[in-house]
Amino acid sequence: MNEDQTKDKERNLPCLKCDTETFHKVLKSINEVDSGEWGLFWGDFEIIMCQGCRTVSFRHAWGNDDIIDVDEDGHAIHDSSQALYPGRLRGRKHLEYSFFLPPDVVKIYKETHKALCSEQPILAGMGIRALVEAVCAEKKTSGKDLQERIDNLLDLGVLTKDVAEVLHHTRLYGNRAAHETASIKEADLSVLMDIAENLLRNVYILPKKAAQLKAQPKASPKNPATIPDF
Ligand SMILES: [Zn+2]
Repeated sequence: MNEDQTKDKERNLPCLKCDTETFHKVLKSINEVDSGEWGLFWGDFEIIMCQGCRTVSFRHAWGNDDIIDVDEDGHAIHDSSQALYPGRLRGRKHLEYSFFLPPDVVKIYKETHKALCSEQPILAGMGIRALVEAVCAEKKTSGKDLQERIDNLLDLGVLTKDVAEVLHHTRLYGNRAAHETASIKEADLSVLMDIAENLLRNVYILPKKAAQLKAQPKASPKNPATIPDF
């Protein structure tokens, strides 16, 4: 086991806060190598810092000497993987103003977001379904199944017809939720999460923000400080 063999290296990785890939510098590392008749295995454990927002997180990379491909310059590509903690996906930032969500809904949302960012698609799919169900239950929509209850959300004006149709075309409605959501493609899962987040925004966040706006003193040209800042 060695220390700091990868210290000061910079890696282009998704950032927890910047919502895109940024250079992350390795602040500290523990580097392991193990070899024997079965081959060579290595592991890097790194504390990393985003060079944009300075957020600190953790990277674990591991691999072996198996050659799985060759790049365009003829160099061998070895078998390797990496995991980031906390998990994150580029462009999948945590919903802003999630403190406006009801406690039960925010719990499901946080777990679903974590599952999606930790590449656990089955759990993420079940979480998205649970989120939509929780909104329907909280809004007391009627209907014999989730499909009908989602149609009811249209009447409340929190869902558009196009979006409801997208939900109807996914496998979100399976009776055996785990089995059905396992077959949802990763790209579709991302769209479904966008829809769920929009639903949460429309149902819980925007009404609260609008109420705050109404409660403010009326803006006047004589008192520009009262003009809300958006
Ligand atoms: Zn950052």
